[in-house]
Amino acid sequence: MLLGLLFGVLMLNVSGGKIFIQNWINPFGVIFINLLKLIAIPLILASIIKGISDLKDIAKFKTIGLRSVTLFISTTIMAIIIGLVLVNIFSPGKGISQATVDRISNEYSGRQGVQSKIEEASLQKESAPLQFLIDMVPDNAFSAMSDNKLMLQVIFFSIFLGVSMLLIGEAQAKPLKSLFDSLNEAVLKMVDLIMLTAPLAVFALLANVVVSSGDTDLLLALVKYAGVVILGLLLMIVFYCSVLLLVTGKNPIWFLKAISPAQLLAFSTSSSAATLPVTMERVENHLGVDKEVSSFVLPVGATINMDGTSLYQGVAAVFISQALGHHLEITDQLMIVLTALLASIGSAAVPGAGMVMLVIVLESIGFPSDKLAVGLALIFAVDRPLDMARTVINVTGDAMVAVVVAKSVGKLHYKSKLG
Ligand code: ASP
Repeated sequence: MLLGLLFGVLMLNVSGGKIFIQNWINPFGVIFINLLKLIAIPLILASIIKGISDLKDIAKFKTIGLRSVTLFISTTIMAIIIGLVLVNIFSPGKGISQATVDRISNEYSGRQGVQSKIEEASLQKESAPLQFLIDMVPDNAFSAMSDNKLMLQVIFFSIFLGVSMLLIGEAQAKPLKSLFDSLNEAVLKMVDLIMLTAPLAVFALLANVVVSSGDTDLLLALVKYAGVVILGLLLMIVFYCSVLLLVTGKNPIWFLKAISPAQLLAFSTSSSAATLPVTMERVENHLGVDKEVSSFVLPVGATINMDGTSLYQGVAAVFISQALGHHLEITDQLMIVLTALLASIGSAAVPGAGMVMLVIVLESIGFPSDKLAVGLALIFAVDRPLDMARTVINVTGDAMVAVVVAKSVGKLHYKSKLG
């Protein structure tokens, strides 16, 4: 990571350095992310089906499901509240001068990145209230599996199949179970093989982030805003560690050490979905969470539990309102809690998704639609680094919930598996 950052800075100061990184270094990062995405669908399929069909008892699945969803929602609300409290205390938007606002909006508001986020958000918004439920249920399992964006549909299909396998009894389910067990093992081996190239890929990804970032002056104007988001994210780590200490009685360093490779990958790829294979490996083999729990909690968590994203959406919505003089009542802030909760559930686990849903959060508090582009432009320059940081928290939150749920159902075996 460090070498990648340094190399990026060095190349920024060499003529043609940026193009060199984009043409000759970045492709290795892209290939790495593609490989991780390539195995995401087979991994979800095999691991959920194996996890559920190992349960033997359907009541256990209900308990695990209910507890995970309750924890997902509570941690997300906690994250939004932390974000809102901090942004109200520090008011990072109030110190931004009109001249800076003008400069930033001139620079960014016409950009493809900003416009496409607004368009995507308007498509999401136009859909019917229960559309998200409809979207979750595929009408064709194979077409769901052919599109990484349809991960929730694959999760739905896998749970449905796993539960049905439980219901038909062990003898009848045996051939299918052996097939998925073996697929699961093979996919885990693929993760190991892909991870052999991680150091090179992380170097490439970070070098590219450096050469693609916005100009330093603009970054400096946004330092206070970025600082508030980062402080909030750090407080989330403290929150996770406290919960883990309370629930497992173990030193949180144990947790952070075990999960750090997944965090590093989340930071480099900005995608919880691409990080999922490694999160699973760390949570199962190093934190000792039984597959019966992790196979459900982690894929579902990766797609719907985004504490970092929701915290960022809360801070960004208030920051933009402060900077552009849009007054917020306390009821608006409560509205942010609700919409950021839903928006983080609806955000895809890919880079930049949080910013699309931010548009919806802003609209819910009556933010004028003609100023949306300027609002997004304001935070666009620092979005990538903040995306990297919030993805780390998204992944850490999923791992924390997996440990807590496993502990609560007697499926945490850290003593026997820690090597
Ligand atoms: N990149 C984030 C993730 O994959 C989502 C976002 O906040 O944009 O978890």
